[in-house]
Amino acid sequence: MARDYPLEKVRNFGIVAHVDAGKTTTSERILFYTGMSHKIGEVHEGDTITDWMEQERERGITITAAAITCFWTPTHARMNEKGEAEATTAHDDMKHRFNIIDTPGHIDFTSEVKRSMRVLDGAVVVFDGVAGVEPQSETNWRYAEEAEVPRVCYINKLDRTGASFEKSYASILERLSTKAVRLQLPIGEEAGFEGVIDLLSMKAYHFDGEMGMIVSAHEIPENMKAEAQKYRGELIERIVERDEQMMSDYLDGKEIPLEDLKRMLRKAVVGNEIFPVLCGSSLKNKGVQLVLDAVVDYLPSPIDVPQAVGINTDTGEEEERRASDEQPFSALVFKLQVDPFVGALSFFRVYSGTICAGDTVYNSANNKKERLGRIVRLQADKREDVKEVFAGEIAAAVGLKEVKIGNTLCDPAHPIALESIVFPEPVVSMRIEPKTKADQEKMGIALSRLSDEDPTFRVASDPETLETIVSGMGELHLEIIVDRMKREFGVEASTGKPQVAYRETIQGTADVEYKHIKQTGGRGQYGHVKLRIKPLAPIVEGVKVKNNVDREEHFEFINSIKGGVIPQEYIPAVKKGIKEAMDRGVLSGFPVVDVSVDLYDGSYHDVDSSEIAFKLAAINAFQDAVQKAKPVLLEPIMKLEVVVPEKFMGDVTGMINSKRGTIEAMGERGQAKVITSEVPLSELFGFTTQLRSLTEGRGVPNLEFAHYAVVPRNVQEDIIASRK
Ligand code: GDP
Repeated sequence: MARDYPLEKVRNFGIVAHVDAGKTTTSERILFYTGMSHKIGEVHEGDTITDWMEQERERGITITAAAITCFWTPTHARMNEKGEAEATTAHDDMKHRFNIIDTPGHIDFTSEVKRSMRVLDGAVVVFDGVAGVEPQSETNWRYAEEAEVPRVCYINKLDRTGASFEKSYASILERLSTKAVRLQLPIGEEAGFEGVIDLLSMKAYHFDGEMGMIVSAHEIPENMKAEAQKYRGELIERIVERDEQMMSDYLDGKEIPLEDLKRMLRKAVVGNEIFPVLCGSSLKNKGVQLVLDAVVDYLPSPIDVPQAVGINTDTGEEEERRASDEQPFSALVFKLQVDPFVGALSFFRVYSGTICAGDTVYNSANNKKERLGRIVRLQADKREDVKEVFAGEIAAAVGLKEVKIGNTLCDPAHPIALESIVFPEPVVSMRIEPKTKADQEKMGIALSRLSDEDPTFRVASDPETLETIVSGMGELHLEIIVDRMKREFGVEASTGKPQVAYRETIQGTADVEYKHIKQTGGRGQYGHVKLRIKPLAPIVEGVKVKNNVDREEHFEFINSIKGGVIPQEYIPAVKKGIKEAMDRGVLSGFPVVDVSVDLYDGSYHDVDSSEIAFKLAAINAFQDAVQKAKPVLLEPIMKLEVVVPEKFMGDVTGMINSKRGTIEAMGERGQAKVITSEVPLSELFGFTTQLRSLTEGRGVPNLEFAHYAVVPRNVQEDIIASRK
């Protein structure tokens, strides 16, 4: 089968927005307009809208899907001689396929944002035209920056009272990037917001008809011509400065063709050199089509982005995969989600090669093969079965059993592990209890589904009390999970207080011996181990791990047993015992991390030795070793940023200091001050409320996990005492 859309006509992008900036509304409009262009001419306009409205409920589900596919022919390709483009005119050779990847707006889900940045090639960043840049827009922007994702900015809600394109634009320049530049200007604002001027084509666009479906191009209003000329000049200077010929033509006063300007701007946006700024009002159906045009014109296709790299799991060598159908198949699983219509879906992005429904793929993360029985793509109004998925595309496999987020699926003959998606580990945990017996069973299912979908959410049971413990990235993260359990799975549960996820580790070394011997009639027990433990050294890139070393993220097990002094069959039991002891904790019941254990000697008994005896010996030896190796508690440290009016600076820094925080930087943000600090998470419960009352509601916090650090001695004693 040949591919239906050439790679350069594919766009994988996300809509990134602060909560409330209008992502949902914008997405709905996009599905509407793209649905119209897809159903070209088949249906009467009025009917289509009614159909579309009836699908409202299902659409709600679609909008939260990890990836949704739609099609778009740019407005300029559909314009008739009168300068009007109705949604019902087809120009198939200009039709593009959009895969829109969901990115959550809330900060407690930053890992989700990071993860989606990994698989999208570009982003539309939505701003509220009243508020401009908000703290969380900055965090999301930073993630896009780290992942070098090309962006176009869309200042939405220009119809609202208090909206200002110029102010919002200024806040982007000041707080996000000086590479932003106006591509559009609004015609009127607030109640008088009428349309949008495009500064490259120098046309004024209006959006008429039901849902603003008819786009028409007009002359720029007389009273805006001078302003438009001025900003067009700024924009063009920014574009031509990247090309000597264009620059000299421009300086010579020659008119540069529109197509050349667009091509050059595209290059600059794809190269992260320019962020064009657009505007509109999604709610009032103005401007959204031009945002879609900008996605086509300026955001990268899969061939415009750098190649994927990975490790060949046979040879250990680095390899590259190009976005080409001819290359061996490789794909990254980026989201697991349950679709109410087709069931468990594993969304994947194909980096190279193609895959057909029915093919068997190799999962390089778990060394298993799986058959992709059924592959689907989610559209606004249907789940489309797909026979073949091509390089650069996004689709979802139905019903895969053993796949996890971040796994690479690949051609069994060309095994590769693409750079995985790294997730932070949970920092907050709490007990959760079903309200009734009936809830009990459902809760188990719900929690396991939710933790499959979200790798930063984990479920465990307390080994002593057998209670269920859930952990995640923050109080709010856990609250939302509990809420989803109720809404989506009908489970009622009560929860305990959120607790900080402390850890234990060692700062010294120890050499210990433990003999587990029991002789109480019948068969005895005999296990004898000698261990050395030391802090786990970080992995050094390029240095091969030795054969006798088992390396995991927070643990290393070295088997130095020689001459069978402990028979091979008991070694796994020793490792298992150590792992169990690590999970259980030694100092105060928190998991032990980052230790290297060397099993270097021991002995066995022909009759009495058993796996269980060696396991018990290992547990006791390990506990003893940790006690002797300068054990300490580790606590999560958060990066806390507070934006406050200057007069509250002293109070807020005082509060941060009193919470064992360290001030890292103080800066300006417009009229306000920004305090950047690091504060232990344990000091931050209820922080938002305290900050509000201290600053008359004007302090805005932004919190994210930074790293783990050793707990000061006196605090550690308190924590241990409070758990006894
Ligand atoms: P999300 O949280 O980013 O998904 O934002 P929503 O799309 O749910 O929008 C948040 C609120 O802003 C809703 O009440 C919308 O109706 C409203 N809204 C969205 N876009 C616009 C707009 O262009 N103009 C106005 N006035 N309100 C809007």
